[in-house]
Amino acid sequence: MAEDKTIFLRDVRILVDKLQKTLKTKKHNHITMPKKCLICEDSAEFAIKNSNDYYCKECAEEQFNDISCLVPVEEANKTSEEAIDQLEELNKTEL
Ligand SMILES: [Zn+2]
Repeated sequence: MAEDKTIFLRDVRILVDKLQKTLKTKKHNHITMPKKCLICEDSAEFAIKNSNDYYCKECAEEQFNDISCLVPVEEANKTSEEAIDQLEELNKTEL
């Protein structure tokens, strides 16, 4: 029983490591690549929640009557940075 738990926790640790690496790559991209609007390629101000679709303010307003599904680009970046921080905390925790 105790052995099963150890194996499970080790698998979780491996998964967290993988996820962390993926997120770090994404974080890096956010810094090095300015986001562009999908439609007019102007610099983007909004992103669709949980996606890689970016729009400038004008196109966002044109495309979406309801912009509540949109988040400011900076906030979208912040969200992934927070996720990385949380994972790093989790990884520090002794399992
Ligand atoms: Zn645009």
